[in-house]
Amino acid sequence: MQLADTHTHLYLKEFDNDRDEVINRAVSNGVVKLLMPNIDIHSTDAMLKIADRYKNTCYPMIGLHPTSVKEDYLSQLETLETLFTQHSFIAIGEIGIDLYWDKTYIKEQMEAFSRQIDFALRSELPIVIHSRESFPEISSVLADFSDKNLKGVFHAFSGSIEDAKKAVTMGFKLGIGGPLTFKNSNLDKIVEDIGIEHIILETDSPYLAPVPYRGKRNESSYICIINKKLSEIFRITEEESASITFDNSCRLFNI
Ligand SMILES: [Zn+2]
Repeated sequence: MQLADTHTHLYLKEFDNDRDEVINRAVSNGVVKLLMPNIDIHSTDAMLKIADRYKNTCYPMIGLHPTSVKEDYLSQLETLETLFTQHSFIAIGEIGIDLYWDKTYIKEQMEAFSRQIDFALRSELPIVIHSRESFPEISSVLADFSDKNLKGVFHAFSGSIEDAKKAVTMGFKLGIGGPLTFKNSNLDKIVEDIGIEHIILETDSPYLAPVPYRGKRNESSYICIINKKLSEIFRITEEESASITFDNSCRLFNI
């Protein structure tokens, strides 16, 4: 059984004491592809070091996270674009709009999102979208690119069934993780309605650990727990749901 964790922040300090163990534990549980979204110009060094050490297992993305979009976003984007010419990346991410924490830079967030989509199209790479309390704004930016064959994923999808349908219609996958196992979540119904062909799995580790680790540090080996829950929703075997979501991930990210 092979699985992919399409969203892990392995380079964060939460993993400084046992990063190699975390990666080995994932791989020995069948989670053989670990995809790392970038945050900003401060996270790239640590991320690229891991990607170098674990070639064909840990893959880097490049992008400016919406909560890191401030006055200096244009110079950050320039730095990231330079780095892009020096290394290989599998996606532009994570990018998007976050209006949960702070609305001060909404204009800049929308502009940074739009510029990075444009960059993804020119580089022929998929995008990894971070959307928090911002689905209408995200949709409005994406609408400008509707005829461009843009591909990507709504990471940690947490919207309504209408949002899910719209995302899929626009050609995007839904990134599903720990919240699928939460009791009060209606994500199971949304996922069932949308269909497994549009789903890829992710942890968003160290955040959003699934039950029974909810509230603790998350890690990529827990993809198995999320996959088990997904297989129950679709009444198929864990091997089948692993194989479908693994193929979805490999096709989207070309790995
Ligand atoms: Zn993330």
